[in-house]
Amino acid sequence: MTKLQPKDWIMGISPYVPGKAASDDGRPVIKLSANENPLGTSPKVRDAFMAAAADLAIYPDPGAGPLRKAIACQHGLDPARVIYGTGSDELLHLAASAYAGPGDEVLYVRYGFSVYDIAARRVGATPVIAPDKDYATDVDALLACVTDKTRVVYLANPNNPTGTFSTREEIARLHAGLPENVLFVLDQAYAEYLDAEEDDLGLELARSASNVFITRTFSKIYGLAAERIGWGYAAPEVIDALHRIRAPFNVTTAGQAAASAAIGDNAWVTASRAHNRKWREWLAAEVEALGNHGLKAVPSHANFLLVLFEGALTAQAAFNGLMDAGYAARWLPGQGLPNALRITIGTEAQMRDVARLLREMTEMNG
Ligand SMILES: *Cc1c(COP(=O)(O)O)cnc(C)c1O
Repeated sequence: MTKLQPKDWIMGISPYVPGKAASDDGRPVIKLSANENPLGTSPKVRDAFMAAAADLAIYPDPGAGPLRKAIACQHGLDPARVIYGTGSDELLHLAASAYAGPGDEVLYVRYGFSVYDIAARRVGATPVIAPDKDYATDVDALLACVTDKTRVVYLANPNNPTGTFSTREEIARLHAGLPENVLFVLDQAYAEYLDAEEDDLGLELARSASNVFITRTFSKIYGLAAERIGWGYAAPEVIDALHRIRAPFNVTTAGQAAASAAIGDNAWVTASRAHNRKWREWLAAEVEALGNHGLKAVPSHANFLLVLFEGALTAQAAFNGLMDAGYAARWLPGQGLPNALRITIGTEAQMRDVARLLREMTEMNG
């Protein structure tokens, strides 16, 4: 008898580990583990979401027409080249599905976003991991890993979980070094947290290049994580391929309505960016002040801070201490970071509390 068996590459996948929302004994905790917007969702966006309840019996707009138009208008893009997904997660998976398979290589950096590994393995491709440079992306190391089997390169900029950022010069150099038959997926989940002059010009690159796919999300600065909406931009041929394999009604009606309202809500984005910058810099300074206890902050351009624990207080002990006090941070031993915690930038009160707890824990550990 032959047993029912998944493909062996499927069993090679380590399941995605979501950020904790409760302690192990079931107490609800404040989530600083999933990079959600501490300011929540804009009232305008909430209103648009609620209004969509009138159409619950009807399938969503399969072409997401108004949403594509709103995105294109905000960023000066061609709406025909905007694609949408059930979170940008779906789009990241579509990229590997369309361009890679068994025998092919999918490349990304060490300490890259964990979905890239799943996306590569899911289609039977071989993940290839380029070394980092002080937790940041090393363009030369990435390019050195490109072979004639490479089909997709994923890069998050800013990167998660490190928060590190590659300049527009580095992004251009990476793209210029890639063969034309390699799809460069530039994951800009945190792009809205950058100042305008920091922009890595990925969308500009995707306008003219045949092999660049930009992905964005409504889950982070727009405060719409619950609705699962992402969007992407690429050359018409890439968009055509991706549409063939996406789920037919992959973005809900309420989600489309909410996202259409969110994309034009510049005041919300500006306020969220300013809040994030202020408290990220503040928390980074607090962490640096504990440098004599072995704490260090990796310079972040996103809405979280990766804190390294290289002294008596370990990342695991700090994780447990924060959890006991009611805060879930992200400890990432499974991603090769047993010595680090990723902490989402929360409200002022939360950040002051977290900094106080870190200080107290370091003092107790001597
Ligand atoms: C959060 C995040 C996403 C967004 O995922 P969604 O599916 O859109 O919620 C994508 N890429 C990175 C690097 C992220 O951190």
